[in-house]
Amino acid sequence: MDITCPSGLSGRVRGMKAREERILADRKLAKSGGQLDQILAACWEETLDPGPYSFGMTAPNWSEVLVGDRFYALLQVRAVSYGPMYEFSVSCSNRECRARIDWELDLLELPVTQLSDESRAALLAGRTFRTVLPRAGRAVEFRLLRGADERRMSAQRRAAGERPLTTSLAMRVESIEGVEAKDKLRVLEDLEMADVSFLLGEFDRVDCGVETEIEVECPECLSLTTVELPFEKGFFLPQRKKPSAASSSSFRP
Ligand SMILES: [Zn+2]
Repeated sequence: MDITCPSGLSGRVRGMKAREERILADRKLAKSGGQLDQILAACWEETLDPGPYSFGMTAPNWSEVLVGDRFYALLQVRAVSYGPMYEFSVSCSNRECRARIDWELDLLELPVTQLSDESRAALLAGRTFRTVLPRAGRAVEFRLLRGADERRMSAQRRAAGERPLTTSLAMRVESIEGVEAKDKLRVLEDLEMADVSFLLGEFDRVDCGVETEIEVECPECLSLTTVELPFEKGFFLPQRKKPSAASSSSFRP
């Protein structure tokens, strides 16, 4: 199947084969965060348009690819392999309820933000993005998250005591006006939350990708819970369904 990722990177993907289950079961690979790269590499058959990347018509270097494109491509591979419906469960956020909510959604219906022409031009030119923090009044240069950052971030998140917010800011912020590189982390930790949310908004504004924040309704108390789409085992290894209308065409009661 031919797909076009949010940045314009386009190619032909195939569904997963039995041998890819071995990649998913490899614990060492899971720890290193390399599973997704290997799945992408295995299922990407041909590059049709490299979009804003420098690898040309050859196989993508997935550590260089924007996180938004990677996730989009994974969704497509998943949908080709097992269909677009994804089942997962989350807990109700209502403290008096906490019921388990079983949810199902169509992965191909998640909203996608395309990369803007402005951002595409910046990536092609290898330029960073620039903004000015409203409270601190300093200019900040930043770049977008790529596959290599994703791996580093999940490795750091596993390390005890790591603050995910600072980590994710530090990964993207290249420089802060008037701040030496060695002081960057300290200055980021000192940012007022107004500047932090402004910065996160700027990251989103120039980036591309799939909207993974979804709203689910609790069947018990009817309250709405907003969650990040959980990336569970069922994403790539869905449970075989018990006989149901969808899977049993030979027998109907
Ligand atoms: Zn509830």
